[in-house]
Amino acid sequence: MIAYESLQQVNKEFMDEYTNAFQSVLHGGWYILGKEVAQFEQSFASYCGVEHCIGVASGLDALVLSLRYFGFKPGDEVIVPANTYIASILAIMQVGLKPVLVEPDVTTYNIDPEKIESAITVRTRAILVVHLYGKMCDMDPILLVAEQYDLKVVEDCAQAHGAIYKGQKAGSCGDFGAFSFYPTKNLGALGDAGAITCKDHELNKSIRTLRNYGSSAKYVFDEVGYNSRLDELQAAFLSVKLKYLDKITAHKQKLAAIYRRELKSDFILPGVQAGFEDVYHIFAIRHAERDRLKKYLLNNNIGTEIHYPIAPHQQKAMNGILSGASYPVSEEIHRTILSLPISYGHTEEDINRVVEVMNKFS
Ligand SMILES: *Cc1c(COP(=O)(O)O)cnc(C)c1O
Repeated sequence: MIAYESLQQVNKEFMDEYTNAFQSVLHGGWYILGKEVAQFEQSFASYCGVEHCIGVASGLDALVLSLRYFGFKPGDEVIVPANTYIASILAIMQVGLKPVLVEPDVTTYNIDPEKIESAITVRTRAILVVHLYGKMCDMDPILLVAEQYDLKVVEDCAQAHGAIYKGQKAGSCGDFGAFSFYPTKNLGALGDAGAITCKDHELNKSIRTLRNYGSSAKYVFDEVGYNSRLDELQAAFLSVKLKYLDKITAHKQKLAAIYRRELKSDFILPGVQAGFEDVYHIFAIRHAERDRLKKYLLNNNIGTEIHYPIAPHQQKAMNGILSGASYPVSEEIHRTILSLPISYGHTEEDINRVVEVMNKFS
């Protein structure tokens, strides 16, 4: 069986270092906001090419705190891609703002920059771009429209650690970059974890306050804050994994290249663009008979996933909130998309086997 993903397999190589990191924190006796968090924040900021990184409890919280910072009024609007993972939309709603969905491009799966302007109203305050599946959005036209309309830009980087757009890493283009270190992400912890990146000193200071109850100094509270601190143990594990992130990415890129070279043309491959370096959190192809293909692969002992089977506006939770409108591009993507195995735990032989089976699909 070629499983879609095995975290045991992915993390095997790092077990000894994780164990040492655990021992070190355990015996250190300092478990919240200690030197491990500070050190990881510094290394990850430097990895992303930004001044500041603030560790928080999850990717969702990274989005919530970023949006909270700006102090927008209830009902103000935030533009977000219609095909994102629901967390991006929930973050907007959690701070009392209104998500406004914009269609993605069918080849890149990312927000279509040309469709942003027509979604802007007098209440639009920000664009939440999502670098989906490990490919960055086309940032130049997005930053241009943001500047024209005086909008803030937050990057949802949960699937794009280390992805590059014209020389710039994910998390270094907008006002804030919001990262998740959920265990399956390219830079995955051994539990929940997240971080915010930014270039501005004031933003950094304010987010540090917000994540820790709004506390600016011990027992002094300047804001109505949150408890959303990156766990000291997770920070120690993340520092181990970060050293290998480029190796992990290179492995995934090698596997993606096999799919691109070998898969027959019946399968619609994810788009490539000059100046983009994609990190392949997910390798998502499209096929008109996706469900039959998925079943066929499973019958041949190959696990796949669907990211995601139901569009956000068609989820029950969004009844009366996002329902009503139709997003045909997004719906087509959700109907036809299939994620193939592409993890650090897979070998080239695994991928060749997937290709061999897929190319016999008819
Ligand atoms: C995983 C993910 C999140 C949420 O991250 P958590 O750490 O699970 O809170 C947000 N946005 C996107 C695009 C994601 O893939």
